[in-house]
Amino acid sequence: MTNRKVDLIKQLVGIPSPSGNTGKVIQFVEKYFQDLGVATKRNRKGGLIATLPGENNQEHRMLTAHVDTLGAMVKEIKPNGRLKLDLIGGFRYNSIEGEYCEIETAAGEIHTGTILMRQTSVHVYQDAGSAERNQDNMEVRIDAKVGSADEVRALGIEVGDFVSFDPRVEETANGFIKSRHLDDKASVAILMEVVRQMVEDNVKLPYTTHFLISNNEEIGYGGNSNISPETVEYLAVDMGAMGDGQSTDEYTVSICVKDASGPYHYGLRKHLVSLAEENQIKYKVDIYPYYGSDASAAIRSGHDIIHGLIGPGIDSSHAFERTHVDSLEETEKLIKKYLMSDLISY
Ligand SMILES: [Zn+2]
Repeated sequence: MTNRKVDLIKQLVGIPSPSGNTGKVIQFVEKYFQDLGVATKRNRKGGLIATLPGENNQEHRMLTAHVDTLGAMVKEIKPNGRLKLDLIGGFRYNSIEGEYCEIETAAGEIHTGTILMRQTSVHVYQDAGSAERNQDNMEVRIDAKVGSADEVRALGIEVGDFVSFDPRVEETANGFIKSRHLDDKASVAILMEVVRQMVEDNVKLPYTTHFLISNNEEIGYGGNSNISPETVEYLAVDMGAMGDGQSTDEYTVSICVKDASGPYHYGLRKHLVSLAEENQIKYKVDIYPYYGSDASAAIRSGHDIIHGLIGPGIDSSHAFERTHVDSLEETEKLIKKYLMSDLISY
């Protein structure tokens, strides 16, 4: 059986959208909402807000997930015809070594290439294995007959062109989904699917609810604006962080209680946990050590809101990510229960 969320993930990760160049993917999500008859608007920085009216229009809710991803920009065209990169977002060079990539020129042309360390060839370089991967030795080998900077420029490639990584999305028969950029396109797919169900089942939500598809999360200022003054609760749906000592896994919904920004709202956290308990939703409570979300960005930018963070567990984040359909399902269940629940009292 095909899973709608997995299908949406495949479509979303197939549209390159490094932070700063998210127009195409926003257009895709916008069309999806518009086809459902949902009112949408865009903010000036390129994010999308879809709104479902609720019984109570005095107090609102907002949920957010981000479509922007990690990526890079052409920093320099080297004399040998290779490209030096500048990274967009927080990741390590070793997590993109060997990756196929696309370079989008300002004119909109696409060229392909591979991200490699300069001294990759073991037949030539003794330190191919041990050399530190850094900005100076990592470069893009363009799939074109180019051996000089001028020849590269003749292709239309220039400093400032966006570089995106091959998402190499794959779904296994036993329910795993592997891809770059599951952070946070997995959550965007969940929100899209939840909105579809609400509309098609004619569900009237208790509160007017905004769904903010943010496009600058990876660089720290995605969902920190365009929060209506009526918004009381603000829930970020973003990947759960997995690793040694973490309880988050690929089969449950992760409820984040604290990240690098500090604790999330205690009352909302307890509300989410009790919703999970009451509805037999499999969940994990966790702390994400090196993490910030659009909800914490919103608090930092001065919004007086009750903020929370939940999401599907994603293994090997900002690298070769993987989750399981179970985690998508449990996250969707919790969001649906949350949308129908009362605002917490504070
Ligand atoms: Zn994220």
